[in-house]
Amino acid sequence: LKYHKKYFAGSRVELCTKVQQSVGEKRYRHILGVEKAAIELAGKNAVDVEKASIAALVHDYAKERSAEEFKKVIDRKHLDPDLLKWNNFIWHGVVGAEIIEDELKISDPEILNAVRRHTVGSVKMTQLDKVIYVADFVEEGRVFPDVDFARTIAFKNLDQAVAFETKHTLQYLLSANKTIYPTAIETYNRWVVAVN
Ligand code: GDP
Ligand code: FE
Ligand code: FE
Ligand code: FE
Repeated sequence: LKYHKKYFAGSRVELCTKVQQSVGEKRYRHILGVEKAAIELAGKNAVDVEKASIAALVHDYAKERSAEEFKKVIDRKHLDPDLLKWNNFIWHGVVGAEIIEDELKISDPEILNAVRRHTVGSVKMTQLDKVIYVADFVEEGRVFPDVDFARTIAFKNLDQAVAFETKHTLQYLLSANKTIYPTAIETYNRWVVAVN
């Protein structure tokens, strides 16, 4: 896949190298799986394939940063101080987007928003947001009981895949007595409950 240097000042291979340096081997393999799924989903849903590739390659770029680093970024960038009460699961997308912008000089708002929204979704989701959200869930390395079903829906109907993933994640979080990030509930109300 050839990049046009519009969104990232280098080649795809150069971006891959940067990502590889930021995460462990297992996560890097996950990231490449997300890119593969995202490119396929982008093709089916009239999404810019270059943007899908870049967003996928960077979506977990900050996943292995320390809590201290995320807290500093929240402070320095004047992000919502409420974020300080959460953890890496929430930070690596929302706060990770700032780290990506600073370190990789990627400033396209659609790419950064897709990173911000990849974990809990959003009431407003662009087609690119949905592609990354769903690709993260169904990439070829993921293993969970419903993954084949999730893949089948993903390649049939992107909105249905968003709904399935949102409900599936919420069900897991509830069953495990995990705290629910409020945005995850908003995503549920928009994409699972509401009829378009
Ligand atoms: P990954 O970064 O590729 O592992 O995937 P995600 O970014 O989609 O999810 C990261 C983690 O966040 C997963 O373990 C989810 O279960 C968890 N997660 C997603 N939504 C919420 C939420 O509302 N609350 C909490 N506590 N965790 C969540
Ligand atoms: Fe993630
Ligand atoms: Fe996800
Ligand atoms: Fe991921």
